[in-house]
Amino acid sequence: MFQSTYHRAGSVAEARALLDGAEEAKILAGGQTLLPTMKQGLAAPSDLVDLRGIAALRGVTVDGGSVTIGAMTTHAEVAAHDGLARLCPALAALAGGIGDPAVRHMGTIGGSVANNDPAADYPAALLALDAVVVTDAREIPAEEYFAGLFTTALDEGEIVTSVRFTAPGRAAYAKFPNPASRYAMVGVFVAKTGDDVRVAVTGAGEDGVFRHEGLEAALAADFSPAAVDGVEISGEGLMSDIHGGVDYRAQLIAVMAKRAVAAA
Ligand SMILES: Cc1cc2nc3c(=O)[nH]c(=O)nc-3n(C[C@H](O)[C@H](O)[C@H](O)COP(=O)(O)OP(=O)(O)OC[C@H]3O[C@@H](n4cnc5c(N)ncnc54)[C@H](O)[C@@H]3O)c2cc1C
Repeated sequence: MFQSTYHRAGSVAEARALLDGAEEAKILAGGQTLLPTMKQGLAAPSDLVDLRGIAALRGVTVDGGSVTIGAMTTHAEVAAHDGLARLCPALAALAGGIGDPAVRHMGTIGGSVANNDPAADYPAALLALDAVVVTDAREIPAEEYFAGLFTTALDEGEIVTSVRFTAPGRAAYAKFPNPASRYAMVGVFVAKTGDDVRVAVTGAGEDGVFRHEGLEAALAADFSPAAVDGVEISGEGLMSDIHGGVDYRAQLIAVMAKRAVAAA
């Protein structure tokens, strides 16, 4: 039976000092992933540093076309933000489709991107929106941030403080949710700004979230659902598990991409 010492940090600096001073500390955000992991005995941190008391890490700021979302903003808060719903409805809708109400009211965007579950929704959005992950030490482009299954560019003890992006001209997210967990079997986020189209896929990659260059090129030439038909979706690098094989996931990528383009 292990023991973990609980700390409630009042500021990012205090959280960082607590993390640096502990033997093997973990940040606690919404606890939706960390606490079940601890209950299963898969994590046994000496200390838990809770960020929920840090008001500066919470909230959505819309400034012209720029959006900043504090790391401790819950999925429910992202889904319900009026300014975001007007500027980037795709992201608000994505947040509203995460898990169930309990998960959405506790889970946070910072916890989600720090965890980088290969079937999580936000990583697809951040990659397609060319977002920046802001930490207490630096700013990391999404392209460099997501580094494989449950792996990110974060250093030990580095705290995600917000994510930031410029709203695209048009965007949409389509996911085929696992009926049990609501995590993405496959989720495709499409963002178009001017002639530039970015397409990011979650739930399907053996190495986690990825951009699909074939879809991006086809949609840059013709931004229509029909354009997806001309793209070969290779099964190479796709995951196969009890929920679905490689061919099934490849097919789902095409279908979700079409739905996203139609919705955008
Ligand atoms: C039943 C269920 C269904 C779910 N369905 C979905 C779904 O459909 N789609 C989806 O995307 N997600 C889903 N999730 C995941 C959920 O949305 C949370 O995003 C996720 O659990 C992590 O967020 P959290 O705030 O709970 O983080 P926590 O569980 O508190 O922390 C997760 C990890 O991130 C670290 N961490 C947390 N915050 C920070 C930070 N600011 N800086 C650095 N490290 C940090 C923690 O130390 C820990 O290692 C589901 C979860 C459950 C339990």
